[in-house]
Amino acid sequence: MPNIGGPSTMKRKMLSTVGHSVILYGAPIWAKAMDTISLRNKLLSLQRRMALRVTCAYRTVATDSILAISGLPPIHLLTQERRQIFNGKTKEESRNLMLEKWQSEWSVSKSWSTYLIKDIRKWFLRKHGALNYYLTQFLTGHGSFRKYLYERERSRDDECIYCGEKDDAEHTIIYCSRWNLERQTVEEKLYIKLSTENIVDTMLEDEEKWLQINAFVSAVLKAKSKEEEK
Ligand SMILES: [Zn+2]
Repeated sequence: MPNIGGPSTMKRKMLSTVGHSVILYGAPIWAKAMDTISLRNKLLSLQRRMALRVTCAYRTVATDSILAISGLPPIHLLTQERRQIFNGKTKEESRNLMLEKWQSEWSVSKSWSTYLIKDIRKWFLRKHGALNYYLTQFLTGHGSFRKYLYERERSRDDECIYCGEKDDAEHTIIYCSRWNLERQTVEEKLYIKLSTENIVDTMLEDEEKWLQINAFVSAVLKAKSKEEEK
């Protein structure tokens, strides 16, 4: 599946659901095996591959981040959930417990993605909000950003080609003066001053806001990667 174009997030997610039904076959019986880290990691790496395809992400993104962004609960939490249902808990109770555990694991990992997506339950249960190659770059911080490229020896320095500041996802989308006009346009439409703290929460409020911010982020990152090629 290509990162640009190809099937929509919905279709990608559906394929991963099929994959998960296969993986989770008989899970209540073998859920205990997920306490063994080596076994858990084997399945996590399989999940990771699916999540990378669902989100069109760079292969360098950490597993916990890409699972959260794609809305795939880590395998050990899914197997525990299945086991609890098998042992008599309701689906709702088990799901709530799973989400609580996911939130506490997520809060520990201090990454750019955790900073943006604070409430995993809200993110996971949202009814709108498709991802794409560009939005995922912003959410992961892995993409057309000089800091990212410099750390992987793919750029001479980590400075923004427009303003000379340190160039990362936050700089590009929230601060870089090159995109002031585009940023102001979306801010005026949404009556909000975008910040690292509020951007994802705003997207989660409703579909219109998600689409507006997604269009802004995608337009900026698309234009930026084109201009960097010159
Ligand atoms: Zn800049």
